[in-house]
Amino acid sequence: MIDLAAAIDLVERTAAPLPPRRQRLADAVGRPLAGPVVADCDSPPFDRAMMDGFAVTAADFGTADEIVELEVAMDLAAGDATTATVRAGRCMRIMTGAPVPRSADAVVPVECAVDGTAGAHAGGRVRLRDSRFRPGQHVGRQGTAFRRGQEILHAGDVLTPAAVGLAAEAGATHVIAAARVRVAILSTGSELVPCDTVPDAGRIRNSNGPMLAAAVAALGAEPIELGIAPDRPESLRSAVAAGLGADVLVLSGGVSAGDLDLVPATFSGCGVTKVFHKVRLKPGKPVWFGVLRRAASTPTLVFGLPGNPASSLVCFQLFVRPAIHMLAGAPREHWHLPRAAARLVAAVKSPPDRPVYLPCRLTRSGAVLEAEPLPWTGAADLVGLATADGLLALPAGGRIHEPGETVEVLYDSDGR
Ligand code: AMP
Ligand code: MG
Repeated sequence: MIDLAAAIDLVERTAAPLPPRRQRLADAVGRPLAGPVVADCDSPPFDRAMMDGFAVTAADFGTADEIVELEVAMDLAAGDATTATVRAGRCMRIMTGAPVPRSADAVVPVECAVDGTAGAHAGGRVRLRDSRFRPGQHVGRQGTAFRRGQEILHAGDVLTPAAVGLAAEAGATHVIAAARVRVAILSTGSELVPCDTVPDAGRIRNSNGPMLAAAVAALGAEPIELGIAPDRPESLRSAVAAGLGADVLVLSGGVSAGDLDLVPATFSGCGVTKVFHKVRLKPGKPVWFGVLRRAASTPTLVFGLPGNPASSLVCFQLFVRPAIHMLAGAPREHWHLPRAAARLVAAVKSPPDRPVYLPCRLTRSGAVLEAEPLPWTGAADLVGLATADGLLALPAGGRIHEPGETVEVLYDSDGR
């Protein structure tokens, strides 16, 4: 059994940023690019109408407020292509997004049609008055946003939704970006049934699976849910082997000292090297951590979390969260849950031998943060945690912390 600080230090020493990966555009949103995006086309790709109206030649428009009558030579809709030219005295009815003929200088909006001619189409005549007319108006000229061959996004740029749109416009279906950490989640225990079924006698729903998947997703990583493995060596072994293909395997259950706690032996059998097992911590003492190193690929970090849901979540926040952030290349200040000093509003007792993390509710009272411990029956109890917005972190010591005392709290700014 090791101290919490030593265990966290071992996780930090073991996790290293993953190399960037080529990935689908939509999968890379929110992460920095590792290479540029180069446009394969101009934007706009052709001279394009920006309004519904009539494509005209500026030469037909003289003084402001003069009414100009033109013959409508053809209709152009978005998606049409044309090589036709607009001759003097003529125009083309044009819709937003349609290509503007080369010889046209401007689009006069349909709102400028007078004398009931706004509905004029090919073969008809339109009367236009545009007091604000200027050559070039309402035409998006080819290549004015970006040019083919131009670097439109650069290494280091964070792929925002707008940047995804820009890259998609420029023909980039894939980008090279900081890796999205793939986290396999495996729940173990012969008593578990999927949470969408009603458990038989003696069985319970797998609540850790959805909970840990949600915690992984809240960090921007990719949860890969492997479901449930019963406490049988062969089933466990094949499920663990499947999880070892991910960047991180987060398993819950089967790491304590019971007869059917087969997980540590299974990890060893799969070639995972133990870094630590059992930490001076409440809840979460049985937690296991190791690493699988292979010649040709990045290591897989392996966490065996205790099966009790509150233990699982506390261990996730203390050990798995920083590992995922480190693999993703996040700056150090993001690795761990933020900490703050808070004033205790009710008495709470620490265990004699281990630091404890208890659910609490945080409120601001002027400049002071107040922490109210929530009722909590122990490691299996998610009720308190589900309504908490912080964790009260008390050192070992077996003493009563009185109301008004300053204590340390952790709060989750990613997950809620
Ligand atoms: P274990 O760590 O396997 O000894 O399990 C400790 C306790 O957590 C037992 O009461 C299990 O039934 C329970 N438990 C284990 N896995 C889960 C899970 N995925 N969801 C909910 N409870 C679990
Ligand atoms: Mg078990």
